Amino acid sequence: MERVKKQNIIFLSIDSLRQSHLSCYGYKRKTTPNIDSFAANAVKFTQCIAQANWTLPSHFSMMTGMYPYFHGCTDEKKKLNPAIPVWPEIMREAGYATAAFTGGGYLSEDYNFNKGFSFFDAEKEPQTKKNKKIISWLKGIQQPFFLFLHSFDVHHPYSPPPEFDKFTEGEKIDVDTSKTFFQSVSDGGGKLGEKELGRIVDLYDGGISFFDSSFGELISGIKELGFWEDTFFIVTADHGEEFLDHGRMGHSDYSFYDELIKVPLLVKSPLHGALKIDDQIRHIDLMPTLLELLGIRANLKIHGKSFVPLLEGVTSARGRIAFNEMRTNVRVIRSVRAGGWKLIKREFMASKVFEKNWRKWLPRYTKKAFLLMKGNLRRGTKKKKVLTSGVELYSLKSDPHERENLAVKNREKLKELEEELKNWVESQGSTALKEPLKVTLEEKTQNQLKGLGYL
Ligand SMILES: [Zn+2]
Repeated sequence: MERVKKQNIIFLSIDSLRQSHLSCYGYKRKTTPNIDSFAANAVKFTQCIAQANWTLPSHFSMMTGMYPYFHGCTDEKKKLNPAIPVWPEIMREAGYATAAFTGGGYLSEDYNFNKGFSFFDAEKEPQTKKNKKIISWLKGIQQPFFLFLHSFDVHHPYSPPPEFDKFTEGEKIDVDTSKTFFQSVSDGGGKLGEKELGRIVDLYDGGISFFDSSFGELISGIKELGFWEDTFFIVTADHGEEFLDHGRMGHSDYSFYDELIKVPLLVKSPLHGALKIDDQIRHIDLMPTLLELLGIRANLKIHGKSFVPLLEGVTSARGRIAFNEMRTNVRVIRSVRAGGWKLIKREFMASKVFEKNWRKWLPRYTKKAFLLMKGNLRRGTKKKKVLTSGVELYSLKSDPHERENLAVKNREKLKELEEELKNWVESQGSTALKEPLKVTLEEKTQNQLKGLGYL
């Protein structure tokens, strides 16, 4: 295959877009006609895994090619250490114009997300409004470019314009789609009936449809400017969304089921035709792949690996291993996804200090949720003060919705994946990079995050 230099990249991340809710990924509703047309001429990945289940760590993994505990942005108080190289910076050094149009919040200057971008716009506004600014920026461009786009149109709270709130048959009942409410449901406090849940999903799908309409406008604008043929166009999401699939709502709640970590990935390539790839890849593989396709050399110590061989038809039975991890001083959840299997491991660290401080550390926990956890902790304290509150093993090929836990039935597979996880956890200590820095939020970013239900 010919390696072509100086082509453009447009990289779009649609926040909270669950893979199974796009019509081109088999959804029952026609939510994404414009993305479907785009997908018809793109490389479609069916097994792309995000490295985190929420916005901040996931995006920095895409931009650095590293797992979250290496780039360091693992909670809302941590911003990127400037010593860590990022994708736009490498592009800028290679002579590309770089720009980002994001929805702000975690993707703001406050978190150093602007690193490497010569032009950076972080306003929380609908994509249709952003499109005008993007086209105007593109009009002034005389050199190859790297353009990063991000939208919160699909993110909670779900509020599509009335013309896109079109999936409800019958009465459009009022429902709460705030993060606070979703969290209370996930914690076992809030109640959610079937009718309410249906309406919430309708609104979420309406938001997807709204975004898709703006995506159509954007594609037309880019084509009119004559950039289409020479541009790699990547479409993905930072994570998905849960709708009581496993008892939880929303995202970022210590859950690594596929509705959260398996994301859409479509790559329109000037060098490749339409293709469907079922091998597992990860967000961290995107940067090294595109750098290779563009012939840009960079001496990087990262976890991601180029998937150019997959584009050229070289596949492997096992595929790449994807790990996920979220931890605090009281609990940790990790998962490993490999060869059509997934292991999820949760641990609570029981201690007297925890029992004394739980209200401060877990302020959003309901009394009921805490009592359930405390019950677990008590049992756990008998076992070396650590409670293994759950080991789950799923065969993703025969059980894609992760319903039947095979941890007891298939000890051999369990052991194999536990070993993979153990090796990965051990490797983190020796190769961790620069310390993250403590973030200070400007008022604008605070307001953007509050609007999304954070802070
Ligand atoms: Zn997100």
